[in-house]
Amino acid sequence: MEDLKVDIEIKVPHLSENMESGKITQWHVTEGQNIEKGSVLCDVTVNKMSFEIYSDFKGILTKINFPAGSEVKPGDVVAVISQTDSKIEVSTVNKEEVFEYKEYDVAVIGGGPGGYVAAIKAAKKGAKVALFEKDKLGGTCLNRGCIPTKAYARVAEVYNILNKAFEFGFDLSINSFDYSKAVKRKDSIVSELVDGINALLKANGVDLYYAKAEIDKNKNITFGENKIKAKNIIIATGSAPAKLPINGIKSKNVLNSDSILDMAQLPESLCIIGGGVIGMEFAFIMNQFGVKVYVVEMMNNILPLLDKEVSSYIKREATKRGIKIYISSTVEEIEDEESGGSIVVIKSKDDIKRIYADKVFVSIGRKLNTDIGEVKDLLEFDRKAIKIDNSMKTNIDGIYAVGDVTGKLMLAHVASAQGEAAVNNIFGVETVLDYMKIPAAVFTEPEVGYFGYTEDEAREKYNNIKIGKFSFKHNGRAKTYGETDGFAKIIVSEDDKVLGAWVVGNDASELIHIISTSCQSGADIRSIEKAVYAHPTKGETIMEAVKDIFGAAIHKV
Ligand SMILES: Cc1cc2nc3c(=O)[nH]c(=O)nc-3n(C[C@H](O)[C@H](O)[C@H](O)COP(=O)(O)OP(=O)(O)OC[C@H]3O[C@@H](n4cnc5c(N)ncnc54)[C@H](O)[C@@H]3O)c2cc1C
Repeated sequence: MEDLKVDIEIKVPHLSENMESGKITQWHVTEGQNIEKGSVLCDVTVNKMSFEIYSDFKGILTKINFPAGSEVKPGDVVAVISQTDSKIEVSTVNKEEVFEYKEYDVAVIGGGPGGYVAAIKAAKKGAKVALFEKDKLGGTCLNRGCIPTKAYARVAEVYNILNKAFEFGFDLSINSFDYSKAVKRKDSIVSELVDGINALLKANGVDLYYAKAEIDKNKNITFGENKIKAKNIIIATGSAPAKLPINGIKSKNVLNSDSILDMAQLPESLCIIGGGVIGMEFAFIMNQFGVKVYVVEMMNNILPLLDKEVSSYIKREATKRGIKIYISSTVEEIEDEESGGSIVVIKSKDDIKRIYADKVFVSIGRKLNTDIGEVKDLLEFDRKAIKIDNSMKTNIDGIYAVGDVTGKLMLAHVASAQGEAAVNNIFGVETVLDYMKIPAAVFTEPEVGYFGYTEDEAREKYNNIKIGKFSFKHNGRAKTYGETDGFAKIIVSEDDKVLGAWVVGNDASELIHIISTSCQSGADIRSIEKAVYAHPTKGETIMEAVKDIFGAAIHKV
């Protein structure tokens, strides 16, 4: 037995998303002082926000490398803590394991809406939590998905409203559109929200590691040369854009849903491969920005997973706006042109077309991020998704999975709900999600809000169904808005269970909650029918659609 001395370097972590440097404003400890695990060592200000650096180790502070007032960068060693422990047998115990092998109640891999929500929830329940993020907090949703696309969708919407201003008596002319301002606005919304998550994690005491984490066969979490252990692990590694294996896919003109958001300039023309939700949202945005848009969809309609009546409605709207749609067609090849753009070779049943586009946006689906180390060989998969039970548990005890990587509904709020459910289940509070009642939105123009079965699915699964419908054309508030496109459609079983609800129209993404929240609370259509709505509201369209199921809509003959 001999005394073992270990010097632990305290490094400046990435304290905020865009941190390049920060300033040490105050040291709370002095050299030679005994430090307890969890002690605050110093305060650092980054972009006007103040953060604390604290010690995860017990020991003696032997060195302060940067006095108060110094500029520091992530990775700088600000202090050294030394530990000696006479109980350690050098011959049998690995130094790293004794001093750096931290143990958590919950470790979460992936800082997207599944992971960061799970981490905060677990911390609120009193757990010691570690969160690993290899890229940016907020994941796809905040950085490359929901938020940036909706920031653009709002710009498109404002443009649309301005274009209709004459209806309201205004004589306006739009002289120019500065796309770079829309990009800057989007970036600043994203970075504010990302910083907000960082602050929330910190306020809840979550240990955030900016690192790619893997799980080994013994359920240790490894990152670089480090290792931690956790009683419970939540995998929330999300997904990334899928690649299309065709000739020419490596062209400089080809974009995916990540790179299209960072385009410095708008192209004159854009060919979108894939008419699913992401493809169609971009189709409407780019069309509104003045780009000539083509959409190529291999199925026989765009938005093929939605209710047929809804996808056909959106297709008509898209076509009206000048978006050129090729259905039942595939892209065979992309050839670069000397002029700078590309020729996209589109094959349909009896035809080959070649269209020119400055940029080609591939939006054919998502690849799940399942490369999470040795544990991958032990996990059960359902096709390419990590298989989970109703409590978000994988087949391995103590390992849970949430979000896109589980291949359920690949939506941000579903990831978050799964994250919360996983934590509840870890804490013994049984929580099961009913995916058929969770709403989804498609931010086209007009929007779609929906949950549950399409009419075709409902007919296939149930002998008899009842449908109620009401159009926004007959809604007073919609008229005052000048937004009368669309309808609400509710599908119920013979015994009054709501099987599906579909709203197309202005604010449909909000309106769907009127009915989805009731259904999530277990209401059937008879009890929903009793509700009285404020007037004049667009929600009355839902009220009338519900009444219409029983032939009782007042404003419909
Ligand atoms: C263009 C687009 C628009 C979208 N719009 C919407 C919308 O309007 N509404 C909606 O509900 N959904 C939308 N989505 C889907 C939504 O973004 C995803 O469903 C959601 O982000 C999934 O959350 P997640 O936590 O499972 O994964 P992600 O958000 O993908 O986060 C996973 C995180 O894990 C990190 N990670 C991966 N592996 C590791 C590792 N080994 N170690 C450490 N970190 C790791 C990644 O860097 C990432 O940050 C959109 C998606 C796209 C692409």
